[in-house]
Amino acid sequence: MTDQENPRPSALKVQAGIQQPESVNIQAISRFSRSKKGLMHSEEYAQGILAGNYTILSKAITLIESSLALHYQIAQEVIALCLPHAGKSVRIGITGVPGVGKSTLIEALGTQLTHAGHKLAVLAIDPSSTRSKGSILGDKTRMEALSVDHNAFIRPSPSSGSLGGVARKTRETIVLCEAAGFDTIFVETVGVGQSEVAVYAMVDFFLLLMLAGAGDELQGIKRGIMEMADAIIINKADGDNRAKADIAAAQVRNSLHYFPVSDSGWRPVAATCSAQTTERIDGVWQIVQDYLAFTRENGFFTLKRREQSRQIMLDTINNYLTENFFTDADTIERIKAIEPDLLTDKISPYTAAQTILDAYFSGLKRD
Ligand code: GDP
Repeated sequence: MTDQENPRPSALKVQAGIQQPESVNIQAISRFSRSKKGLMHSEEYAQGILAGNYTILSKAITLIESSLALHYQIAQEVIALCLPHAGKSVRIGITGVPGVGKSTLIEALGTQLTHAGHKLAVLAIDPSSTRSKGSILGDKTRMEALSVDHNAFIRPSPSSGSLGGVARKTRETIVLCEAAGFDTIFVETVGVGQSEVAVYAMVDFFLLLMLAGAGDELQGIKRGIMEMADAIIINKADGDNRAKADIAAAQVRNSLHYFPVSDSGWRPVAATCSAQTTERIDGVWQIVQDYLAFTRENGFFTLKRREQSRQIMLDTINNYLTENFFTDADTIERIKAIEPDLLTDKISPYTAAQTILDAYFSGLKRD
């Protein structure tokens, strides 16, 4: 079959292989197995979420996080039903090394927001963490007030999986939270490793928390992360630390001048605050408001969201292809078979890779 006869790109034809024969009543079977397993129908989850029912929202997020195929299927249906009601929140990423004061800031800022009538969801991305599932709440010092605040919903990081998998789950959780009526979403991440990039890719505003008097190396902050930030806030600007924090903010402000102007046209702001005493917390929120006004005015807000959607689509394709390729039994065999030639320099790694890729894709065309 030529590509013209077949409108589907060949690499995606593998999907055809997992479709069920039409004679099988999939819906009936899946409804039966759902009720048997104590699961609800996707419409019921969606209705509960749209009605702002936190218990049902939590259950649906658990399905997103599950590795069971049936859970995945229901979760995708629920997401599809919720999508038309999503997208209306402001999504804010918060990063910084452990101990910098992220949860204290989220608690302080979040409480002010909920008292002002906002509905806040706090999510986290921390795939590498040893922090066990649920301990974002289990640790009593973390977000004590928010955890009992009816206008707040706190969900810890999905506890397992690759960064890509964890990021997908968090993105999908954002959709459900927005459909449940949360107008502000905080996504917290620890400032070490790649998770900041994943968070940056799913938020509107990216906030980096730092401390005064600690070298950048000490804070584990890579230059690339500073470049992603829309605001850099020096926290713990209280007591004896206040003056040092002001100096640090001035230094950061200075170094920001040497950074390339971001696509948004927004010049990142450096400021100080004390999450503990809540001094200048208002200032932090004002920066977020200024950014939103600026990027809504110049169209970047919408542009960034569209670009994020495009990237999610590409990432999904990428994950799908990689997953299918590396779990394909013939491909696994071919990689094994070519290794002796590769290791004795009879074939170059590039030729070996091309041979295996050609065999895989021509196999798909024949299917
Ligand atoms: P996280 O690991 O980034 O979430 O940091 P935490 O919010 O758990 O804060 C770590 C420690 O720093 C805690 O003991 C906080 O009480 C303290 N802390 C957080 N913010 C401030 C602040 O603004 N000033 C002072 N002095 N201490 C703070």
